[in-house]
Amino acid sequence: MRIHSAAALALCLGALTACGGGGGAPSAEGAGVPPPTSEQTAATGARKPAASLRGKVIVIDPGHNGGNGDNASKINKQVRIGNGSKACDTTGTATNDGYNEHAFTWDVSKRLAKLLKAKGAEVHLTRNNDTGWGPCITERAALGNRLKADAALSVHADGASASAHGFHIIQPIAVKGYNAGMVPDSQRLGRALRDAYHEGTGVAYSNYRGKKALDPRDDLGGLNLSKVPKVFIECGNMRNPGDAAKMKSAEFRQRVAASLTEGFEVYFQS
Ligand code: ZN
Repeated sequence: MRIHSAAALALCLGALTACGGGGGAPSAEGAGVPPPTSEQTAATGARKPAASLRGKVIVIDPGHNGGNGDNASKINKQVRIGNGSKACDTTGTATNDGYNEHAFTWDVSKRLAKLLKAKGAEVHLTRNNDTGWGPCITERAALGNRLKADAALSVHADGASASAHGFHIIQPIAVKGYNAGMVPDSQRLGRALRDAYHEGTGVAYSNYRGKKALDPRDDLGGLNLSKVPKVFIECGNMRNPGDAAKMKSAEFRQRVAASLTEGFEVYFQS
């Protein structure tokens, strides 16, 4: 326990203001479904690390949304995803004791945005709170396209059978006339994030999806409709007790954010 506390403290100090405030308190960015905020970095703080991500535009997409469950008719509306149709959005999964995926993805995304901004990146989130509904997967992809983002990441956690565990990255498969141009860079982004996440969090490769934690798919609107390099991460399986215990820990979520930040740095350096 003492070791954990010390490690958490070190992480907090390293990230300056990154720790604390992650308990789901609504952000100051407002309620409802306002348009996504531009969160350009302000250069402040003498202890700021080298701005390795300066000039990079990164879209972070926190999967699902806290209000989706109360807006079934809106999120169930079918939208076109290039090679078929899918629901606008979904409610996501939860741990067996009720920690919701949307809360996890929101918390990780906020932490990740903070760390990326500290490295000089211009970061945009696809939603501004964890209480509204949507946006539709079409809009989640369109934001990166409009911004001509350098990279995009959709943050998720899985809801598989209890014995399934570990993380995986979902990479795009080319859908003709849609995302073909971004597939090679997305594959590179996926490998960089996989390696950094594996090393930084110690979470095992998925034992139920993909090969070496890489799972190519062409049934996700967020990937089919993206013109910019983009992957999804399924950070673990919320229905697996071991993975769930990790995801419920704020200390772990900070490690997730730190490792993904490192993955982006590796991607942009290579
Ligand atoms: Zn999800």
